Amino acid sequence: MGKVALVTGGIRGIGGKISLRFLLEHYQVIAVDTDADRLKEWVEIQRAAGFAKADAIRCDVSDYAQCQDTVSTLLKQYGHIDVLVNNAGITRDATFKKMDKSQWDAVIQVNLNSMFNMTKPVLDNMLANQRGRIINISSINGQKGQFGQTNYSAAKAGVHGFTKALAQEVARKNITVNTISPGYINTEMMQAIPTDVLEAIVAQIPVGRLGEADEIAELAMYLASDKAGFITGSNIAINGGQHMY
Ligand code: NDP
Repeated sequence: MGKVALVTGGIRGIGGKISLRFLLEHYQVIAVDTDADRLKEWVEIQRAAGFAKADAIRCDVSDYAQCQDTVSTLLKQYGHIDVLVNNAGITRDATFKKMDKSQWDAVIQVNLNSMFNMTKPVLDNMLANQRGRIINISSINGQKGQFGQTNYSAAKAGVHGFTKALAQEVARKNITVNTISPGYINTEMMQAIPTDVLEAIVAQIPVGRLGEADEIAELAMYLASDKAGFITGSNIAINGGQHMY
């Protein structure tokens, strides 16, 4: 069997493009999301488009037991997982003064605790196989902080620490762990923003445009490839020059 990639939040937005990019590279792709009907529909669409290796499984990445069960089910079916893309993420924005505990907890659970929940069971398999690629999707706002996003900025900053520590622990086992930090990407979320606000956002981006999810997917593909074996513990910013640290 060929290589297997597990992509959380893998049917729409950035994750959807990452799944598609891996399918184009003939990976067995398993997309994870919380909506069983949407997942079924996604698999049908991909298979109708000729991607026979598209598969999906429902799992809430904020729930450790579900992640364990999901990985166990997948390993029975596919035997190994070569690439894990921890992409699922949410926002629950509010200034800190107005933020309630549920907004804080939800964002930490989905964006940060998911790193433990999904990576833990997958890593056991990668260690046994002595190979693997773990790609964690953070954000420009985890690097620089963002007004109204103390929860999200904290969670995404935590992803950087997680990446760097784990990369050191598993480097000798032929497993790399890296972070991608997108800037503003042209997803559904951005399309919902009023034109004047969007123009103000784009004005802050030196290249003068939003990023495309395909550009994130291309980078993820490279990090997953054999060519990227010397890149580990890195954060790769892909933000049009908006934040250069
Ligand atoms: P979307 O909202 O378009 O997609 C997020 C995906 O994550 C959905 O498939 C969603 O599925 C899934 N998801 C959410 N919660 C869970 C959960 N608990 N368990 C499993 N899956 C879940 O997001 P984007 O594509 O915009 O973002 C993808 C990643 O990139 C996120 O980590 C985000 O923080 C990051 N990012 C995005 C930027 C942007 O400009 N778009 C900029 C910087 C970073 P469901 O339908 O179940 O909710």
